[in-house]
Amino acid sequence: MRTPSKHAETIYALLKQSSGPLSANEIWQSLQASGIGLATIYRILKRGVESGALCEANLPGGQTRYEPTGLKHHHHFLCSDCNRAIDLEGCVPGLENIVPPNFSITGHEILLFGHCADCSEAA
Ligand SMILES: [Zn+2]
Ligand SMILES: [Zn+2]
Repeated sequence: MRTPSKHAETIYALLKQSSGPLSANEIWQSLQASGIGLATIYRILKRGVESGALCEANLPGGQTRYEPTGLKHHHHFLCSDCNRAIDLEGCVPGLENIVPPNFSITGHEILLFGHCADCSEAA
């Protein structure tokens, strides 16, 4: 595996300290001061996924968002006002209770929608 470039390190660091997965556009907006172009960000994200350092969080609403791999099992909250995705800790017990008999669950995704704290205050 090649060592990540300086730009890649900046992007990985941003994703690690982010409160949720970020799209290329959101990364570009947060890093505008650093002068990293959108095309470079896309390339670094693609390489990150290929190398296994990053994974795609496919939430509804068009843009693919990215997060570091190896995070603890978690789910996402999607703000319908500012369109931010926020990581939620923990999980929901009892999912097996809503599955018909003789079905077995091999995985699940849970997405909550609503208004984040910032947007609730603004309303
Ligand atoms: Zn919001
Ligand atoms: Zn879960």
